[in-house]
Amino acid sequence: MGTTVVVGAGIAGVRTVQGLIRRGHSDPIVVIGAEPHLPYDRPPLSKEVLHGDAPLPALLPADQEVGANVEWHPGVTALSLDTRQQQLVTSEGVVAYDILVIATGADARRVPGLPGTVLRTWDDALNLRGRLRQTTSITIIGAGLIGCEVAASASKVGAQVHLVDTLSAPMTRVVGPSLAEVVSDLHRAQGVTLHLSTGVQEVVGGNARLLDGAICPAEILLHAVGAIPNTAWLADSGLDVVDGVRCDQLGRAQAPNVYAVGDVAAWGGTRNEHWTSAIDQAGVVAAAITGQEISELPLPYWWSDQYDVKFQGVGTINGADEVRIGVWGPAHRTVALYGISGRLCGVVGLSAAKAVMGLRREIAVGAQLDEVAVRFGGLCEASGATRNSQSASAMRSHFSVGRDGAAPGRAALFLVLPARLPHS
Ligand SMILES: Cc1cc2nc3c(=O)[nH]c(=O)nc-3n(C[C@H](O)[C@H](O)[C@H](O)COP(=O)(O)OP(=O)(O)OC[C@H]3O[C@@H](n4cnc5c(N)ncnc54)[C@H](O)[C@@H]3O)c2cc1C
Repeated sequence: MGTTVVVGAGIAGVRTVQGLIRRGHSDPIVVIGAEPHLPYDRPPLSKEVLHGDAPLPALLPADQEVGANVEWHPGVTALSLDTRQQQLVTSEGVVAYDILVIATGADARRVPGLPGTVLRTWDDALNLRGRLRQTTSITIIGAGLIGCEVAASASKVGAQVHLVDTLSAPMTRVVGPSLAEVVSDLHRAQGVTLHLSTGVQEVVGGNARLLDGAICPAEILLHAVGAIPNTAWLADSGLDVVDGVRCDQLGRAQAPNVYAVGDVAAWGGTRNEHWTSAIDQAGVVAAAITGQEISELPLPYWWSDQYDVKFQGVGTINGADEVRIGVWGPAHRTVALYGISGRLCGVVGLSAAKAVMGLRREIAVGAQLDEVAVRFGGLCEASGATRNSQSASAMRSHFSVGRDGAAPGRAALFLVLPARLPHS
């Protein structure tokens, strides 16, 4: 089989290597990673690393003993790729490959023309953690998953938090506008000041002036406006790298013996910037390289921790034309079911793991939304699902009660809302 070169030592690269070793791959594996640190995990960076004093969330034991055939090259950057010669130029010289796995992830996007910082790496997290302890406030541009997590962590350490987004509610792209209203309430209840449907115009004298005229302290100005796949080094490779490395459903890029996994990869034209997707893709590619049976990619799954709420999502909300938001179980957890043409395509729950994970099969087979809503209601302590005409604000008050877990069990109440989904 020859030498497999993995470029990028994040979760996708590391899990590809581990997957190869587990499948008995004994040929040489060379791992090239730009960062100087041991491979580490990113999700804790906006959570316990920021509001606590967690150490580097290492992905491997300190001695990096993964397999005797694995060579690690931290602090080495791939600069270009020649798919005809099957070699890449790195900051340390030319490396030839028989099989190449591109796992270079993504970098934080910045708002052009504004000063400020980002959160993508361990170094970013240490910097932000240190500054949060020296200041009293933070303004976060972008109320997506990472912006919201930083808002939660920063308020946990006592900072005054301003969260700014051009959309009308936080996490709209992740959960859709209806459930995003619930997310707004969650952050407001914790003292976060939301500045919605606006953006930062300029930073003057240590303050950020917003487009609506509001002024926010910019002691720390965090750009949390998404990520850009790390494909600059592939510019002359001939690979299609428009919004990620284009691959088929097995991670094969458009050149012989080249695969891509994780945040940098657009499998079937879609990038899933989620930790679990990176792991699932690594498993598929490791199986493909070793010629073993390839199991189907599981449904996309993501999670997010904000305050004491664990958000979890399975499936997709893309293309959904209906969303039904309900309360589930004795603690009244909020759950949203998303449908396309009456078929369940995704579910998002707030601290409702059992409900979310329990619907994976129904999403996979595209079960009838109506039937799922009824059966789903049966999961509640008090049986039966009722569609009703409550307003979204009434729904949100259920959420507040549910978070305390104080209310007695009650039937699932499903609100049928038009899925006003954002154009991303
Ligand atoms: C702060 C934060 C919190 C997150 N929280 C969650 C969460 O709660 N839930 C969830 O599902 N997902 C979360 N994610 C997303 C998740 O961490 C990513 O989906 C995952 O890290 C992707 O892994 P990856 O290996 O593809 O890319 P990365 O983790 O980006 O790793 C890629 C590596 O490749 C290196 N590299 C880049 N270019 C080169 C080059 N030219 N040569 C050599 N090396 C290179 C990079 O330095 C990096 O180390 C979070 C992300 C961040 C940043």
